[in-house]
Formats: sequence, structure tokens, C-alpha cells
Amino acid sequence: EAKMQGRNGYRFFNPSMNERNTARMRIEVALRKALARNELSLHYQPKVDVELGTIVGAEALLRWQADGEDVYSPEEFIPVAEDCGLIVPIGEWALREACRQAETWTRLYRPLSVSVNVSALQFQHTRFYESLRTVLVETGLHPTLLELELTERTVMEGGDHIAELLRKIKSLGVALSLDDFGTGYCSLSYLKHFPIDILKIDRAFIRDVAWDNDSAAIVGAIVAMGRGMNKQVLAEGVESMEQATFLGAAGCSQMQGFLFGKPMTARDFEERISVVDMGDPTVIQD
Ligand code: C2E
Ligand code: MG
Ligand code: MG
Ligand code: MG
Repeated sequence: EAKMQGRNGYRFFNPSMNERNTARMRIEVALRKALARNELSLHYQPKVDVELGTIVGAEALLRWQADGEDVYSPEEFIPVAEDCGLIVPIGEWALREACRQAETWTRLYRPLSVSVNVSALQFQHTRFYESLRTVLVETGLHPTLLELELTERTVMEGGDHIAELLRKIKSLGVALSLDDFGTGYCSLSYLKHFPIDILKIDRAFIRDVAWDNDSAAIVGAIVAMGRGMNKQVLAEGVESMEQATFLGAAGCSQMQGFLFGKPMTARDFEERISVVDMGDPTVIQD
């Protein structure tokens, strides 16, 4: 009996839980201020096609910076933004800003696509589809140059209307990708039912691909499946030439990772596309 109580008591007063909640609340309060102070921005990471030998677009990634320093990483503040609902206005802002930027680059240089991460709460918000259409009209970005990155979880937990929503978005011309593919708990049958265009292989598989047989087999299988289903496949987190070489041989020509460029400011990305356009994308610029 005493033991039980002790255990319950411990659970109730679990200090690490309290610390976590306090940390979350601290981030939430700071995040509200950050929004008002425009401390959120987007960085852009090149997506390359090694067969074409060029940058084909960028993934937009949120940054929270004050005086040029990161305050919190997305892995710290996005879950908090999701919990307190702030992800909806933040996500809308990110979508609009990324589209505006891609339209500018496309006008100044050449067609460049932009990928925007959309979290489950934002995607399931009743306003999402309309706000997406509004952003496309107002920024003038050609819809085929926009890609929305969803997670397996977003697609799976979206309920009955999700297939319909995905189809509506697709009929605008917008591309849909599954982010961190292979790490969620999506059954493969979802790929049959949902109109996903692109599989982004999670970097956990890419990390070990050059020396671990299992990772190599998984990556090879995803690439083959993607091909067979007429989907594009992109490898995330490519850091070494060994990995890039393996992927190229496996038939995966679209890559993203530190080997080709870390997420960078819009200005630095613009310099990349204007200066080394059509150059060797494996030349590390950072
Ligand atoms: P993600 O969408 O899977 O983005 C890829 C993450 O991997 C980014 O981390 C990127 O900086 C990192 N990365 C890229 N290449 C490499 C590499 O070669 N090696 C290693 N070690 N890492 C690499 P980041 O920017 O910290 O973002 C983390 C996550 O936060 C993202 O994962 C995404 O889930 C979320 N996120 C970022 N921006 C947004 C946003 O605007 N909206 C939403 N809902 N989520 C976002
Ligand atoms: Mg992503
Ligand atoms: Mg990812
Ligand atoms: Mg991720």
C-alpha cells in the first residue's frame, strides 16, 4: 500500500515532468513575444538533382533568431507551437513567405520550387485549403512550384476527409510529399489511397547507407517502390560523397543535405543560384 502511494506520489510530483512543463511555458511566452518582434524567419536548404547537376528548389525551414543567434531550434519550439495552437498563424506566415520568395526567385532566375513543412494541426484546420488558395493567388507563385511536406502521422490521423483534402490540393497543381518517410507508422497501403507525389527518405536511413547493409536495402527498396509507383524519391540528410554515390547508383538523383548546403538565409541562397547556377552541385559553398 505504502509502495503504491509512493509510486503515485512520485508520478504526481515527478520533477522531470515539472521541469518539462516549465520549459514549455517559458518557450510559449517567449514565442508570443518573438512573433510580435518578427524574430521568426525562414532559411532555405538547396534540393539538388545530381543527374541534372543543378539546384531544383529549396526547403523552407523556420528559424527563431534574435541578434543573429538561434534562440531555440525548430525541434524545441515547433512542438510547443503545436501544443498552444500558435503553429497555425506561424505556419500560415511561413507558407506565404516561402511562396513569395520562390515567386521572386523564379521571376529573377529560373523556376525554383519551394517545399514547406505543414504540421498536422495546421493541415487539419478548416481554413487551411482556403488560405492555401489565397496565398497562391496573392503571391502569384505557380502552384506546381509549391510542395507541401506532410508527415505520415498527419496523413494517417487526418480522418475521413483527408483523402478528399489531399485531392483538392493536388488539383490545384501543388505537390505533396511525405517527410521523414520510413520512420512513421504509416502502413504502405496508405500510398495506394493517398495522392502523394514525393517520398523523402528519412536521414536516419541515409546516415548509415554507405556501410550498413540493412539501411542500404531499405533505401534501395524505397527507391524501387517509388519508381514503380511513379513517385519522386528524395534523400534527406546527405552528408558525404559516399552516400551520394550510393544513392546515385540506386537511382535516387534528388538529394538534400549538408553535402550540398546547409539551410541558409534567403540572401545566401539567392547568391548560390545566381553564381553557381548549373555548376557542380556537390561543390560545398559553406
Ligand atoms: P525536416 O522537415 O525533416 O527538415 C530537415 C531537418 O534536417 C532540418 O532541421 C535540417 O536542417 C536538417 N538537415 C538537413 N540536412 C541535414 C544533414 O545533412 N545532416 C543533418 N544532421 N541534418 C540535416 P531543422 O531545420 O532543425 O528542422 C527540424 C524540423 O523542424 C524539420 O524537420 C520539421 O519537421 C520542423 N520544421 C522546420 N520548419 C518548419 C515549419 O516551417 N513548419 C513546420 N510545421 N515544421 C517545421
Ligand atoms: Mg521537411
Ligand atoms: Mg525530413
Ligand atoms: Mg525531421
